[in-house]
Amino acid sequence: MGESVIEWTDDVWNPIVGCKACSPGCLNCYAARLASTRLARLPQYRGLTEDGKWTGKWNFNDAYRNSDWNKETFGRKPRRIFVCSMGDLFYEAIKTLWITSVMKCIINEHNRHHTFILLTKRAERMAEVLADYKLPANVWCGVSICNQEELKEKLPHLAKVNAAVQFISFEPMLERIGFWDLRLCRLDWLIIGCESLAGKKAGRLPPALSGVEGDGFIDATTEIVTCSKPYGVPVFVKQIPIGGKIERDVTRFPKQLQRQEWPGRAITGSAE
Ligand code: SF4
Repeated sequence: MGESVIEWTDDVWNPIVGCKACSPGCLNCYAARLASTRLARLPQYRGLTEDGKWTGKWNFNDAYRNSDWNKETFGRKPRRIFVCSMGDLFYEAIKTLWITSVMKCIINEHNRHHTFILLTKRAERMAEVLADYKLPANVWCGVSICNQEELKEKLPHLAKVNAAVQFISFEPMLERIGFWDLRLCRLDWLIIGCESLAGKKAGRLPPALSGVEGDGFIDATTEIVTCSKPYGVPVFVKQIPIGGKIERDVTRFPKQLQRQEWPGRAITGSAE
């Protein structure tokens, strides 16, 4: 397990690594970039990428292969743990057997003081695999959505997952996403972020009506934040584009987007 630079989690845990693009949001996959550069020397990433893209191969980390999950695994201090940040736990090539092995650890009663965050682009497979699970309240399940079409397709699958916290991550948000009727679904958390490229450059963004690069993302994010407000849905605005660069310092966001909240409690910022 390792500490994370991802603002909405404390740690990442990667028992399974590797993936394959399955959505327009995968085009500039951050994890693939990392696996082919900074992390390339680690044995578990060998052969998983080519030219900065996933090859479709995956690995179960040997360090966990014969683990005894029947004990405390991540220490006493409660942590938010993002599971499989370097891949997708529900990638179709990963046998259910391996996913079940990871889930065994996650739902273990010795680990109930931690929060496990599962985030996938494969909402349908997540719903299938977790159909028979009674997930404890410390397991949060989310889907990653980059455009309107994906929202329509994936939300019904997310609704089938029996998790105490169901959430959407709009990252990278590639277009303005109509998100006006939260009464039609149960959502407990929203994450929003723009696409990031190497060198902290902003990637593809929703088109800007004003013609000023970045405005399209700010407008689209403001719309989602505004819609979520009457329903009290916590929102975490992770990163925004300013002048073609990625800005991660929440105090430099437009005031209405200074929201970095988790389910259950607001940590910083306010849209008032
Ligand atoms: S699903 Fe996630 S990890 Fe896999 S290619 Fe797409 S963005 Fe990358």
